Amino acid sequence: MKNYIYADNAATTKLDMDAFEAMQQFLIDDYSNPSQPYSFSKRAKVELQNARKEIAECINAEPDEIFFTSGGTESDNWALKEFGSPEDVRTIISSEIEHHAVLNTCSKMRRSGANVCFLRVDNEGLVSADELEKLLSQHRRDNDSEKILVSIMFANNEIGTIEPVEELALIAHKYSAFFHTDAVQAVGHIPIDVKAMHIDMLSASAHKFNGPKGIGFLYIKKGVPITAHNDGGAQERGLRAGTENVAAIVAMALALKKNNEKIQENKNRIIDCEKALISKLEEARIDFIRNGSPNRIPGNVSLSFKGKDGETLLHRLDLMKICVSTGSACDSINTQVSHVLKAIHLGEDYVKGTIRVSFGSNNTVEEAQQIANALIKIMA
Ligand code: PLP
Repeated sequence: MKNYIYADNAATTKLDMDAFEAMQQFLIDDYSNPSQPYSFSKRAKVELQNARKEIAECINAEPDEIFFTSGGTESDNWALKEFGSPEDVRTIISSEIEHHAVLNTCSKMRRSGANVCFLRVDNEGLVSADELEKLLSQHRRDNDSEKILVSIMFANNEIGTIEPVEELALIAHKYSAFFHTDAVQAVGHIPIDVKAMHIDMLSASAHKFNGPKGIGFLYIKKGVPITAHNDGGAQERGLRAGTENVAAIVAMALALKKNNEKIQENKNRIIDCEKALISKLEEARIDFIRNGSPNRIPGNVSLSFKGKDGETLLHRLDLMKICVSTGSACDSINTQVSHVLKAIHLGEDYVKGTIRVSFGSNNTVEEAQQIANALIKIMA
């Protein structure tokens, strides 16, 4: 990897070395099942609880409101599919720029009888609080007892826009609806306080904040009507059965704690990388648009180059050992124009020439300059 410039941190991040070492401990030495009563299991049991506590502290939740899952996709599926009970009239209000973990779950729920509506976004990718209020008031007039879940992502994975989560959550509560947020791109990168922000459920994924892949969590505030995602043993208070991946959970907690402690420091460094990239492109008079709202997740730089093709740019950069993505990395198999770029009504001339550069805490300003130089060379 040494020869590569990795600038696709919104797709995944490098595992933190301390997190890696913590994992080894629980894979090789303290590998017991934490549910077993003998003393060999004590360490795993204690560290599992410590991890839950540390993660809760990072988002200002209570430890018993943290439920371990296999990542963002599972957390989103659980929050949406198991909300309320099958007998309830269920309504999900989401946005048209959500990740497919939410969008495809919504489609499935619609097929199984739930009401599903998607809010439009403006050309910066922002959901309108007024539109949400209009929709909620109409639903409540029509049906007083239906269970409504509003699910709006914290930050968009393709263009980085941070949604007005607190405002949206307050509106949801005003109409006795619950509020879930897919915070996969935000956790560990910007400060999150679930209490102050009135969030009822929040999805997170460790590999987006220098933890291992295949592990994440769902925060479920006490009192949210939700049923079990996995049936089986009593793990995760009977709501998500299955032997816990202790090694990954411990590593996730450590990675999140470390990232949270350095949020401002990382942000400053990442913003310097962004500036270096943008200013070099501007100096070279390249015709491009930077997508998203000015209030974005640090490091997410979605660029649309006039008259270019994003796929070609990605492959040319790849030949120069630079890793970025087109549109969304989670959707690289689908080469159609991304639903997010369509939703923000990006101009015809620019939409196909979109790439996403996403800087992380491992990137340097020199690397950002090299990416800019490579792009300038390709454009020439
Ligand atoms: N939600 C968002 C906003 C994402 O960016 C991603 C992955 O890129 C996911 C959900 C899926 O997370 P995971 O890869 O942990 O399943």
